[in-house]
Amino acid sequence: MIEHPAFTVEEWSIREKGFHLDLLAQTESIFALSNGHIGLRGNLDEGEPHGFPGTYLNSVYELRPLPYAEAGYGYPESGQIVINVTNGKLIRLLVDDEPFDLRYGDVQEHERELDFRAGVLRRSVRWASPTGRTVRVSSTRMVSFTQRAVVAISYEVEPLDAPVRVVVQSELVTNEALPSQSKDPRVGAVLTSPLVCEEHHAQGTIGIMVHHTQASGLRIGAAMDNLVEGPPETIVESESYSDVARVSITSRLKLGERLRIVKLITYGWSGVRSQPALHDQVIAALSAARSTGWEGLLAEQRAYLDDFWARSNVELEGDPEIQQAVRFALFHILQAGARAERRPIPAKGLTGPGYDGHVFWDTETFVLPVLTLTSPYAVADVLSWRHSTLDLAKARAYLLGLHGATFPWRTIHGEECSGYWPASTAAFHINADIAYAVTQYIEATGDTAFEEEIGLELLVETARLWNSLGYLDATDRFRIDGITGPDEYSAIADNNVYTNLMAQHNLRSAAAAVKRYPKKARALGVHIDEAASWHEAAERMLIPYDENLGVTPQDEAFIEHEVWDFAHTKPDQYPLLLHFPYFDLYRKQVIKQADLVLAMQLRSDAFTLEQKARNFAYYEPLTVRDSSLSASTQAVLAAEVGQLQLAYDYLGEVALMDLHDLEHNVQDGVHIASLAGAWTALVAGFGGLRSHDSSLFFAPQLPSGIARLAFHITFRSRRLRVEATATEATYRLLEGSPLQVWHHGNEITLSVDEAITRPIPPMKAGPRPTQPPGRVPRERGARGQFAKTHKRQVNNG
Ligand code: BGC
Repeated sequence: MIEHPAFTVEEWSIREKGFHLDLLAQTESIFALSNGHIGLRGNLDEGEPHGFPGTYLNSVYELRPLPYAEAGYGYPESGQIVINVTNGKLIRLLVDDEPFDLRYGDVQEHERELDFRAGVLRRSVRWASPTGRTVRVSSTRMVSFTQRAVVAISYEVEPLDAPVRVVVQSELVTNEALPSQSKDPRVGAVLTSPLVCEEHHAQGTIGIMVHHTQASGLRIGAAMDNLVEGPPETIVESESYSDVARVSITSRLKLGERLRIVKLITYGWSGVRSQPALHDQVIAALSAARSTGWEGLLAEQRAYLDDFWARSNVELEGDPEIQQAVRFALFHILQAGARAERRPIPAKGLTGPGYDGHVFWDTETFVLPVLTLTSPYAVADVLSWRHSTLDLAKARAYLLGLHGATFPWRTIHGEECSGYWPASTAAFHINADIAYAVTQYIEATGDTAFEEEIGLELLVETARLWNSLGYLDATDRFRIDGITGPDEYSAIADNNVYTNLMAQHNLRSAAAAVKRYPKKARALGVHIDEAASWHEAAERMLIPYDENLGVTPQDEAFIEHEVWDFAHTKPDQYPLLLHFPYFDLYRKQVIKQADLVLAMQLRSDAFTLEQKARNFAYYEPLTVRDSSLSASTQAVLAAEVGQLQLAYDYLGEVALMDLHDLEHNVQDGVHIASLAGAWTALVAGFGGLRSHDSSLFFAPQLPSGIARLAFHITFRSRRLRVEATATEATYRLLEGSPLQVWHHGNEITLSVDEAITRPIPPMKAGPRPTQPPGRVPRERGARGQFAKTHKRQVNNG
């Protein structure tokens, strides 16, 4: 998409020039604004045309039945689905007698810009109505990072060739009609009219609506105020109905005059608060926003982002497209997590209805590592949300005949919402993924209060799960049979190495944590014997190994399976899941997404470099990347084993997944985990960053396309800058007390104001591993950009 000439490559923004109706649905996701609590798709101010309208509040969902053709024990019966709530961003305009609608008249100029430093979406349009009146419409929209309940829009209209009469209708609209859904399982379902009106009210410049969902029992409030600046005879009227509150502003504008409206919108929702309480809540948020004012809100937003970029900026020389993409990625990750506050980060953030708004393991495994080193407070919030769902996870484990807790594969509120158990309930690794995120966060922050209050219990209950799910066999090996690992083209396998290594980490971490907090551990019912049994399970964990090939099998039987017939699979049969039965995928060697390769990244300590290179070379020809979660991991491991150009090619794919719409589904929302993967490919890939035992290990190496890479991270209250070129790396401690880190295996001590530069040792790599035919990542040329040869369409999911 950004390859489209309308999109320019810029350092700090995404800009679209011209009006592209055919790209509207995609740009609605790309230009989405969010603070993790409220999410607005980048719909046009006037609402239509649209791909689909979207306004979301984190964790506002409706229930829907999950019917089964054949029922089975333990199948979830109710699903949760994100709903489109009251749309407050709608501002319709009538120019003389003509509605401002870009499908009619003449769009003479149209430009939109998402600005990563200001945190706003700007739009400027010059439009001639069908009757020949030309106006300029300019808007700036923000979802405030500092005032969580607040959206603000500055909207201006001015005549350009003759005086005009304009009517601006600033609205709150509930139960908007949505286009019907496709059959792709990754697309979200659509509920028509999910909200029931409890209150609607409009007076002067203010409107307010309170609605509730029918089955999930949630109440939603939205309020708006419209601060009007226009010629003296400007008239304001208001009205409301059950699904619309409208403030109409009518003005006659002479040449040189403008009508400006600052629209403030506030949202609140609750599962317990009454209608008057919610009414008051959104009205109070409106008062706060009004007292800050438009300029104040802009200034707060800029200051918030200045602070974020000082902690997180990534600089890149040599590849401007990736430079833009990684900042776009960081901006969307921040948007997804900044103010989620004890709520989940869904796979699409709050940018679209894809995957029904569900959160998956994506969050803990791909997104939280980025936030842990850039905005750790957001990690504590997400993990606290997991913790708040512990009772549901324990109930689920009990239902499944297991101990401890088993967290849902996909959910909004905490209950399992997947009806396809081989790739959900059986994917128990999500529990170890959560535990891993807990330990990474604690190691990176030293947040002992969190560890005692939240982390310990998560570690204990997940360790209990592993102890009951696995068992010591006759030869004293701890086996975990019949589960599904990350690769969703293999299911119900014995001893998936990723799962076993992550469970081992989980068990060890839990055993260590109960020693640090004996009192709290006792309160959780942990006895010495239980902790000892976790330790034993971890030490006896079965990690299969194929002596003949010198390769770690993905699971015990994987390597014995027939290899998928790649030669006879046509390019348009990817993603395979849409063209072949799972039955066949499961019994062949074909990998949807990095599995053992991910184990080598997260449990880097469990493999030698030589083993990593051999394993990587074995799995590359089998991995089809039918999930956007794969390329970043492949980039990281490719870089580690010295395949720098391959890593660079994967970086191109992961970083441009949404901006180039490589999967043809960005319209459903951006891929938050893949965006996180862009950062990971750079920082863990080319920066070589690994962290374990509360230490940071760097091993920078750059591909020829990147002349310089610099990144900032936060670790144990220190702010660090790492900068690498082809030949050397420079480490700077920008803030905080001295810190020991590792550069290519050598320890260095950093202190403020004293940069340390070290040479980058040369590395020998074997031959470049191959990929399945037609699945080679597009080559990234020496000056960035995809090389024109090797053109590959990634139309997968
Ligand atoms: C992947 C899962 C992932 C889900 C949501 C699927 O295609 O295979 O690993 O959790 O998408 O992103």
